[in-house]
Amino acid sequence: MERFDILIAGAGVTGCMIARELSRYQLTVCLLDKANDVATGATKANSGIVHGGFDPEPDTLKAKLNVEGSEMMEQVAKELGVKYKRNGSLVIGFNEEDEKSFDYYVGPSAKEEQEVIRPNTILSIIFGLFKELFALLFG
Ligand SMILES: Cc1cc2nc3c(=O)[nH]c(=O)nc-3n(C[C@H](O)[C@H](O)[C@H](O)COP(=O)(O)OP(=O)(O)OC[C@H]3O[C@@H](n4cnc5c(N)ncnc54)[C@H](O)[C@@H]3O)c2cc1C
Repeated sequence: MERFDILIAGAGVTGCMIARELSRYQLTVCLLDKANDVATGATKANSGIVHGGFDPEPDTLKAKLNVEGSEMMEQVAKELGVKYKRNGSLVIGFNEEDEKSFDYYVGPSAKEEQEVIRPNTILSIIFGLFKELFALLFG
């Protein structure tokens, strides 16, 4: 029977990143997955943006790690030779009530990273996007 110092269950981005981190130490690590390949779960089929860190409930461990993980991404992608573009994301508010909810999304820890922008700036972002567009599928 083979023995390992550490067994990681699940080879999605979380398990793989833990395995990568542990590979820096003198440890034998086993990464197990119930599927027949790595990244067959949520990691395989998400929207493909790296969250800016404002989604989880503020001041939770998840919120903290979300921000830290997002900040790590550029360097990690460079080290792994993976193309990465920090394209960001927009949360849209249609009224003052919506804008108040931005505080909830951002939370104090990530507040400096986020910016509330007004229609003129939003329009220039959208027009900037249009310059890069080639085709749209509408259905
Ligand atoms: C529709 C959707 C869109 C998303 N869009 C984004 C996005 O744009 N940006 C973003 O940053 N995040 C996004 N996310 C979230 C992101 O995809 C997940 O947070 C991330 O992929 C989770 O990775 P994970 O390794 O924790 O889980 P998973 O990728 O699900 O990996 C878990 C692994 O564990 C394995 N497993 C389960 N049970 C066992 C077991 N008993 N034994 C062994 N192996 C087991 C599974 O086979 C799987 O491979 C999205 C999620 C969804 C669902």
